[in-house]
Parts: sequence; structure tokens; C-alpha cells
Amino acid sequence: MFLTRLVYASTITDAFQHTDIESILFKAREQNAKIDVTGMLCFNRKYFLQCLEGSRTNVNKTYHKILNDRRHTRIILLDYKEISVREFGSWSMGYMPESSMTKPINLKYSGKSDFEPYEMSGDSAWKMMIRLKENIPSV
Ligand code: FAD
Repeated sequence: MFLTRLVYASTITDAFQHTDIESILFKAREQNAKIDVTGMLCFNRKYFLQCLEGSRTNVNKTYHKILNDRRHTRIILLDYKEISVREFGSWSMGYMPESSMTKPINLKYSGKSDFEPYEMSGDSAWKMMIRLKENIPSV
């Protein structure tokens, strides 16, 4: 099996309603647990940044479903690589909304206190998520 990590950013569309975040997380955790995909989702009410880890087949399968979801657009692949260990092994989908606590972390990894995933390199986006995971409970 090829263990793989994928990181992308996207933007909400008019089809996205703010209560959708709960159903997206519920679905992601349910589906990901079945196929051993783990990761983290960051969201600031406008942009998403998500990391998916798992077998190459299952990460691609999940990403293809996500690409077809009309609740977001401008989906840009920031990072895709084979890895030897998971960073989010305890999270079927960890979740980090923007808050005052995340601003200094944004500043460190993107140079801006606002969450701007399109301004980040894939490596910086991934490192920021590693830093953020210290603050979220595993789900
Ligand atoms: P169905 O629910 O039958 O979906 C069929 C199609 O409709 C899919 O293309 C789906 O994307 C789309 N769709 C479903 N609900 C809506 C809706 N309310 N409005 C518009 N289109 C809709 N899924 C995962 O399994 N794992 C993840 O990690 C994950 N992360 C996500 C992150 C983001 C930012 C978003 C927006 C979605 C994420 N999803 C994730 C949800 C994913 O896009 C699918 O909706 C979900 O997996 C169910 O797809 P399905 O084809 O199995 O079933």
C-alpha cells in the first residue's frame, strides 16, 4: 500500500449554507473512518484548507468526491506526496475553525494574521496544520 497525503484549498459557493459545516464534518468522519482516511479541515467561513491521509486509492477516491461537491469551488491542489507515517492518525477529520488563537499561527506560516490558504505554499499549509493539531481533540 502507498500511504499518501493530499492538501488542497477551496472557497465556499452560494450553495454553501453556514450550517453545512456540521453535515460536511459528520459525513467526512463517517466515510473516512470506513476507509481509514484521516486528516484535518480548517475553515474561516470563506475558505477551506484540508489535509487527507491514507492509502493512495482511498485518498484519491475521497478527493474526487470532494471535487464534485458544489458547496465549494476554486479547488486548488497544494500538496500531494507519498509519506511513511500519518500526522493525523487519530483524526477521521479534525476540525479547526478560525479564532483569535489561530491568528498568530496564520501569521507565522503565511505572513498574514487572516486565514489565506491561497497565499500559502503546500509545505507551509501542511506545517500550519501540524501546528494547529496541537489544539484540537481527536475525532
Ligand atoms: P452523496 O451524498 O450522494 O453525494 C452525491 C454528490 O452530491 C457528490 O458529488 C457530493 O459532493 C454532492 N453533495 C452532497 N451533498 C451536497 C449538498 N448538500 N450540496 C451540494 N452538493 C452536495 N467527504 C468525505 O467522505 N470525506 C471528507 O474528508 C470530506 N471532506 C469534505 C470537505 C469539504 C470542504 C466539502 C465541501 C465536502 C467534504 N466531503 C467529504 C463531502 C463530500 O464532498 C461528499 O459530499 C460526501 O463524501 C458524500 O458524497 P457521496 O458521493 O458519497 O454521496
